[in-house]
Amino acid sequence: MNTKYIFVTGGVTSSLGKGIISASLAKLLKARGYSVTIQKLDPYINIDPGTLNPYEHGECYVTEDGAETDLDLGHYERFTNVRTSQANNITTGRIYQSVIDKERRGDYLGETVQVIPHITDEIKHRIKILGNKGDYDFVITEIGGTVGDIESLPYIEAVRQMRWEKGNNCVVIHLTYIPYLAAAGELKTKPTQHSVKMMLEQGVQPDIIVCRTERPLNESIRHKIALFCNVEPSDVIESIDAKTIYEVPVLMRDEKLDIQVLTKTQMPIEGEPDLEKWEEFLYKLKNPNSEVTIGLVGKYVELKDAYKSIIESFIHAGASLQCKVNLKMIHSESINDETAQEKLSGLNGILVAPGFGERGIEGKITAIKYARENNIPFLGICLGMQCAVVEFARNVLGYADAHSTEMNPNTTHPVIDIMKDQKTVCTKGGTMRLGAYPCKIKEGSKAYGIYKMIDISERHRHRFEFNNKYLEAYQAAGMMAVGINTKDNLVEMVELKDHPWFIGVQFHPEYSSTVANPHPLFIGFVDAARKNSSEVK
Ligand code: GLN
Repeated sequence: MNTKYIFVTGGVTSSLGKGIISASLAKLLKARGYSVTIQKLDPYINIDPGTLNPYEHGECYVTEDGAETDLDLGHYERFTNVRTSQANNITTGRIYQSVIDKERRGDYLGETVQVIPHITDEIKHRIKILGNKGDYDFVITEIGGTVGDIESLPYIEAVRQMRWEKGNNCVVIHLTYIPYLAAAGELKTKPTQHSVKMMLEQGVQPDIIVCRTERPLNESIRHKIALFCNVEPSDVIESIDAKTIYEVPVLMRDEKLDIQVLTKTQMPIEGEPDLEKWEEFLYKLKNPNSEVTIGLVGKYVELKDAYKSIIESFIHAGASLQCKVNLKMIHSESINDETAQEKLSGLNGILVAPGFGERGIEGKITAIKYARENNIPFLGICLGMQCAVVEFARNVLGYADAHSTEMNPNTTHPVIDIMKDQKTVCTKGGTMRLGAYPCKIKEGSKAYGIYKMIDISERHRHRFEFNNKYLEAYQAAGMMAVGINTKDNLVEMVELKDHPWFIGVQFHPEYSSTVANPHPLFIGFVDAARKNSSEVK
């Protein structure tokens, strides 16, 4: 297969949505029957974002094969329904690590190891790995950061070399910003001209310019950009602000981004991309016939990106039920016995988010107590499940100081404890229990009613687990272990017998929810919240 390589670079400013443009293009090409994968190259020195604080980099996404990655990979999977892997996210740290390892092994046979060609060769190698597998017609590579950053230089140089090597099999899409100056009453193209000039200085002529804008681009603006940036007016693509990111594939189809890419790579263009299911999803998303309010309790609620996959999973599940999900972000540190009623009453469902460390933990536990006692549908994810186990121990089983040993290593009731394999782990990077593991669901449980199957596989990212020493006490009091990893005998799912919908999962269902396959747990949860809302009325 003669794989085509598409690069997506960014200019003018960060946060223009390169990930969404890449994912939308992938969706369109896939909807035309082509096989596509998307890769993100991140110019920072961390080996992966697993060690990064959400304040730095938003959510850490986890692939099936256990890679801790940039959250853009989540968009790729949600849009295309194609699984990504370790090879789909590469950082400068990883590139340098492998070059330095090779140097230490003596692989360079006495050469001086340099940015060009050794670092750029390693970058190109990591890009071509995906193409060389022969599985894909298109490899879309998104280059993180903004052109002009010192850190991005080797990546842009690698793109320059790839263009040279691959000719028509390579296309560069540059995403820029066209600001609207209210005082002048005009859209301004100068920042775009400058950013393309910067690319040219680095030896890369973009083939297609995607212009992020708050207002429509008229013909004269398109011609101006074309003239200054050496492209055809048809290669100037408008990317106007959309109400939802899920509209972007449709907008890009209307702007013919896919057709421009296919033309340039000399691939056949037949008919239109099949977006029927996608448009049905959009219709349901925009025309809800019911509404629920769900509280998302976490300690990073002021950061939209920290819970990206959870927020998107609610959009998928809500659309599939034609139910509008209003998410109320609630800071766990603001919840205590005095504020619980004011913060949590009126919610149709409560989700306690994943997380690490002590901060805000008591607020999470208080929110869970409120959900349990007031029969409010509850979903606890990872740390959220662990908090549900702690809450039950303290308030139902009567173990007053019960805790996870992550927060209190000296508790007399360590109901959540470090996993055996984790006890000897000293380094933090990439050492959690990561990626997909199988789980068996107990027939007859609520969880079984939701998944409608016994054998499932879900992604993980944790070091602590339910302490099986307490299993009998829990089950006797009504908190049931309904999902088990039978190989290691780990409790993966708990639920309450006497509650309309109370489920805790040690894994992360949010990582695998996509537009085409909304996650059953989120559908079940929103559905339960909907029932709760009709009772509340
Ligand atoms: N801190 C907990 C653990 O490591 C939960 C992790 C999470 O929520 N992802 O087990």
